Amino acid sequence: MSEVLVLVDHAGGTVRKTTNEMLTIARKLGEPSAVFIGKLSDEATAALKKFGAAKIYAVDGGHVNPYIVAPKAEVLADLVKKTSPAAVLIASSAEGKEIAARLAVKTESGLITDAVDVAEGGVTTQSVFAGNYTVQAKVTKGTPIIAVKPNSATPEESEGAGAVEEITPEISDVAKGARIVGVEPKKSSGRPELNDAAIVVAGGRGTGGNFEPVEELADSLGAAVGASRAAVDSGWYPHSFQIGQTGKVVSPQLYIANGISGAIQHRAGMQTSKTIVAVNKDEEAPIFELVDFGVVGDLHSVLPKATEEINKRK
Ligand code: FAD
Repeated sequence: MSEVLVLVDHAGGTVRKTTNEMLTIARKLGEPSAVFIGKLSDEATAALKKFGAAKIYAVDGGHVNPYIVAPKAEVLADLVKKTSPAAVLIASSAEGKEIAARLAVKTESGLITDAVDVAEGGVTTQSVFAGNYTVQAKVTKGTPIIAVKPNSATPEESEGAGAVEEITPEISDVAKGARIVGVEPKKSSGRPELNDAAIVVAGGRGTGGNFEPVEELADSLGAAVGASRAAVDSGWYPHSFQIGQTGKVVSPQLYIANGISGAIQHRAGMQTSKTIVAVNKDEEAPIFELVDFGVVGDLHSVLPKATEEINKRK
């Protein structure tokens, strides 16, 4: 069975859920081999095995980590040459898409970004035009390189052999042209990252600037918090939490929109969510055209009640 390379998406060594999703998808195409760039810990090895990695290529972080995307694309291009994989899966994040594009050029291969599913045989469902359409596509040249959107699959456990092969990469001087000179960690809210959260609770202008009920509901559900542009432009929430055409595109299992009207530019960032719930005091609000469940009411009274009920049932 051919290998399928999966570039491990991790945060400081901790394997992200996106990786488990990609390993699950990879098993439909062949035998998953994880490519871990950075210091591979026992915990990360165990996590990758748990979701089916038959092999783990541990690429010594010493050479690759201080640099940005170009060396990672070189590492993958060497592995593609060495293993002739059935496909390469990479997270469809800003960084992942850049690595994927560079890899496609280096290996003269076709690339599909924003994949939401890959079927046996490599037919890929791709989300396009900000989630307004899905298309079926298949790479017909070189090695299929597929950038997979977070939350596209339900991760399924399947113990893999997880044989670790250490690789010391040789990085060209060109790829070392841009170097990371400083890293400043963001203050952690303790909430999951917006991009890969399974549940997102978002607030808009209807919050009137008080995000407390939104945050409390999010915390009761272990969810990430998001915001509409109106809320961000009003200075109520940081831009990094904006969802929409000019913000982040999320696709969680559950999206709860609170005091958000449902403008087309906001929809572009959340309409591929699996289940959509809205709380809005205007029953004519366009967001209700999109929802699975809607509550017509004032978020300042609805949300605390929902939070209380959820906390009671924990
Ligand atoms: P509003 O449209 O003002 O809606 C507020 C809603 O809250 C209303 O439906 C109201 O009934 C409800 N409400 C009020 N009070 C309460 C209450 N107490 N309880 C419950 N409901 C209440 N927008 C984005 O979100 N993301 C983007 O990335 C984005 N990109 C854009 C790019 C461009 C080029 C342009 C032109 C616009 C963009 N916008 C974006 C802006 C977008 O068009 C809307 O203006 C914006 O989404 C509106 O935000 P909102 O729904 O929070 O506010």
